[in-house]
Amino acid sequence: MKNSFPQRVAVIGTGYVGLGTAGLLAHIGYQVTGIDIDPAKIAQLQRGEVPIHEPGLEGLLAGQEERLTWTTSYEAITEADVIFICVGTPPGPDGTPNLNYVTSAAASLAPFLNGHAQIIVNKSTVPIGTGDYVQRLLEDHSPNFDETRHRVVSNPEFLREGTALSDSLYPDRLVMGGHPDAVDYLARLYAPLIEQTFVPPAGTPRPDSYTRPAVVRTTLQSAEMIKYAANAFLALKISFANEIGGLCERVGADIQEVSTGIGFDGRIGHRFLQAGLGWGGSCFGKDTQGLISAGREHSYAMPILQAAIDVNYRQRQLVIDKLIRHLKSLKGKRITVLGMAFKPNTDDLRDAPAHDLIARLTQLGAVVTAHDPVAMPRASREWAHLTYTAAADAATALVRADAVIIATEWDEYVQLNWSELVGTMRRPLIIDARNILRDALPAQVEQIGREAAHYQPEQVL
Ligand code: NAD
Repeated sequence: MKNSFPQRVAVIGTGYVGLGTAGLLAHIGYQVTGIDIDPAKIAQLQRGEVPIHEPGLEGLLAGQEERLTWTTSYEAITEADVIFICVGTPPGPDGTPNLNYVTSAAASLAPFLNGHAQIIVNKSTVPIGTGDYVQRLLEDHSPNFDETRHRVVSNPEFLREGTALSDSLYPDRLVMGGHPDAVDYLARLYAPLIEQTFVPPAGTPRPDSYTRPAVVRTTLQSAEMIKYAANAFLALKISFANEIGGLCERVGADIQEVSTGIGFDGRIGHRFLQAGLGWGGSCFGKDTQGLISAGREHSYAMPILQAAIDVNYRQRQLVIDKLIRHLKSLKGKRITVLGMAFKPNTDDLRDAPAHDLIARLTQLGAVVTAHDPVAMPRASREWAHLTYTAAADAATALVRADAVIIATEWDEYVQLNWSELVGTMRRPLIIDARNILRDALPAQVEQIGREAAHYQPEQVL
């Protein structure tokens, strides 16, 4: 391992993280095999189709056919110098991350380890201590296991869905935790990324201000903790803005002005201070809960994180409260929900606020119409338990609606001709739960963290 250079890579799990990782590593020159237990997903990839919506990913993968192969078989592990584990770690009922997929990936890859040096890189977000656990699993399941040749490194992933390519190609930092020899080897794999010597793929140019990522070498445990702490801090920032926003509404201040004002403080910064419907997605809820459950294991309370979670989910009810304030009973009212994905530019529906809104609205007797630019096919499969009418487009969704909730800040919704569209509604009531509308409109517009009057759309009526 000391003097050799990695050439072949296996990526286990071809979801949002695995596909980005496989595409990136193929682009910077490696021979990559993507492995998944889902035969339908692998068949799609083999046909050249990308199973998820991620801007630019299709183009990146399409250009790499010679370096990228897809399979359900673990045999490719034997040839691989570096093996990435990118499987899901969804939360269990008490918030503890479910490690079944990681366990099964490690147990499945172990028999294929060869007698040479190979490193196993964990990219999944896993509880602190999982690196050691995986190392033990490899030991138990591999006839060739040798702890000086087979080492586990934690290399957490920080990509964001919607901007995954650019985040992977031009990361702020690469965190690598584990034995120094194994970390050196992984750093050699990442050299084109660290030195930024690769040619940017079409459509994802290197940002002008970007130079190269910081490289953070740590212990296994610190790397695992860095991922959780980073997500928890971002989640906290959003909940902080939402908590201050709630008070803004009551005292006549405007959270957008307040966030702008405090964000200029270099110690605070502007990002992640937007008040709205709060976070969703597969990571923030799961990782904040994961940290709290790790604390619980050690009898250590984490009240700040618990508060961030409480504030986040309170935002979903706040939107319903705003509706009720205007409409009184929701029974029989036609409510349109615009945006189903947890954020724009993805089709990911995990922990999407729109899910809870639709469920609550139907519970209260409302008749719900929903629309999303890309997530509707997925919703028809994953949200089959919810009752709503899927609209072909946003304009159709608004016709004869008593109110509309903007639940996801898709650019398409910002660009709508709102002045015209409110005329097609039964009642011009817009709950702009992402604070995306800027112009005064001939409608009642409720935003988050701003007193309704502050927005003053009524003046136009
Ligand atoms: P995902 O659910 O989209 O993909 C996981 C894939 O792993 C699926 O295709 C599944 O079929 C496959 N899989 C499960 N068990 C397997 C096994 N034993 N062998 C082979 N394949 C298997 O998950 P994701 O969103 O890509 O997240 C993966 C991990 O990365 C999670 O721990 C997550 O917390 C973390 N992460 C996710 C993001 C994100 O934005 N999605 C960002 C950073 C980190």
